[in-house]
Amino acid sequence: MRWTNALINTLRETPKEAETISHKLMLKAGLILKLASGIYDFLPLGWKSVSKVINIIREEMNKAGAQEVLMPVLSPAELWKETGRWDLYGKEMMRIKDRNDNEFALGPTHEEIITDIVRRQINSYRQLPVNLYQIQVKFRDEIRPRFGVMRAREFIMKDAYSFDKNEQEAQKSYRIMFETYNRICKRIGFKFRAVEADTGAIGGTSSAEFMVLADTGEETIIYCPNCDYAANVEKAIGVVDAIGGDAGEKLEKIYTPNIKTVEELAAFVKMKPEDTAKTILYIADGKMYGVMMRGDREINEIKLKNAIGAIDLRLATPEEIESKTHAPVGFAGPINLKEKGIILLIDKTVENMKSLVCGGNEKDYHYIGVMRGRDFKEDKVVDVIKIKAGDGCSKCGSKLKEQKGIEVGHVFFLGTKYSKSMNATFLDEQGKSQYFVMGCYGIGVTRIVAAAIEQNYDENGIIWPVSIAPYEVSIIPVNIKYKEGYEFAEKIYSQLKEKGIDVILDDRDCSPGVKFKDSDLIGFPVKVIIGEKNFKDGKVEIKIRKDGKVKLVDSNKALNEVINTINELKNDFLHN
Ligand SMILES: [Zn+2]
Repeated sequence: MRWTNALINTLRETPKEAETISHKLMLKAGLILKLASGIYDFLPLGWKSVSKVINIIREEMNKAGAQEVLMPVLSPAELWKETGRWDLYGKEMMRIKDRNDNEFALGPTHEEIITDIVRRQINSYRQLPVNLYQIQVKFRDEIRPRFGVMRAREFIMKDAYSFDKNEQEAQKSYRIMFETYNRICKRIGFKFRAVEADTGAIGGTSSAEFMVLADTGEETIIYCPNCDYAANVEKAIGVVDAIGGDAGEKLEKIYTPNIKTVEELAAFVKMKPEDTAKTILYIADGKMYGVMMRGDREINEIKLKNAIGAIDLRLATPEEIESKTHAPVGFAGPINLKEKGIILLIDKTVENMKSLVCGGNEKDYHYIGVMRGRDFKEDKVVDVIKIKAGDGCSKCGSKLKEQKGIEVGHVFFLGTKYSKSMNATFLDEQGKSQYFVMGCYGIGVTRIVAAAIEQNYDENGIIWPVSIAPYEVSIIPVNIKYKEGYEFAEKIYSQLKEKGIDVILDDRDCSPGVKFKDSDLIGFPVKVIIGEKNFKDGKVEIKIRKDGKVKLVDSNKALNEVINTINELKNDFLHN
């Protein structure tokens, strides 16, 4: 491509609405253009990267034996009603009506549609296994679309669904996809981690997320530096040191005016935060729960939701708390809580406490010397606190660590959740009707592009992994009026194209500074710089975006040097 023929508009100013690095740089480098909140045009440069991501995914999926299909964006409400998700999905699902008042969803995911295809197309175990995938736009009406294409309302995903005759076979299909996702992430050049994940709204029994490691990531990953344990913080388990829990044995109700926080309370009673326990009141599916944990720890609401088996979980409102406990927010405690009709759950951290300080269920009062069993009895012990760096690995005991990540892929073992609710069956070897055992596997295609930028950038712009760079090489004749230099630029441009290198020739008649700035901002991995002085000495410069290294090479060896440099960069990204 010649720059003068390309639609490339870089911006000098950083757009104000952009909060994250990738959002800023994608707008600034002219990869995307905002059309409406959470909805973006992909301009030629941006679409080239997306297309490269799609090619890698498609190649790896095909290699894994999956078959590509295309399902409609519009899916009839009836299918979603079969699984109950028409109601469960809530406002995130975009819905429309046609002229005859028929309801449709703009697909946020396609389990229902694929299960319908398979129940109509497959009736014998002989046709199994099958893994079908598509690369398609998806819609989610985010409460607050932000971060550009990272959390957009319309985005591109690859979603795949496997169907097997039994659980054992389905686990094999799941493993194949797990490995395929590993390969996809490696080919793109990501530093990433596959972690145990919560199954969330999609449901199922086991799942893993593929996290691109980036300090700007929204997700927290808990991992063990010593063994292979890694999990999303939402799901992470760990061994919490049994510290504290020594608050005397004599039960006393004490006056604690103006005490708001655990730290203030601990200081007031001259104990440590880990000698206290806090009780947080929740409403889960209409019932009130008191959830008690050691004072120095935080709750993980997803673990709590799973522990209760709740569909809907939220904090109780101040009004609900007052009417039920007769005390304002902040004074809840376990004593006599059950008598108030509140279900009492205690976290494992409380199980280990000999005695503790807790709320008195009365304004400005707390208890000290509270003993479990003697002074209160829980309904159930649960594991609901957030695991953090420093807790012990439950596999090997080493101290866990934390890092930030961006989720780009998710693999789920679904089992028969969807085939049962949609009555999707086949006949097995004995002629008996069986439910398909399913898995589903998503990758955020447009999100991968943003994640690649979050992981690879500097103050000058994007540093693309070669695998998905809009162009691998930019050729910069510093001054196009210098005839010999420009002729050489044209020549090497044609030669690189012939060799299958994706190359752009910056044939603009503008200052070198603008050319270098744009090339760095867009982040082409390799620059070939043809300057008058060097070229008269028979030399050109090859500059690597990633580390700024410059090689001065003989112009007649430049072609091979560029090709070698690209290959080296590909390897670098593969092994980082
Ligand atoms: Zn470990």
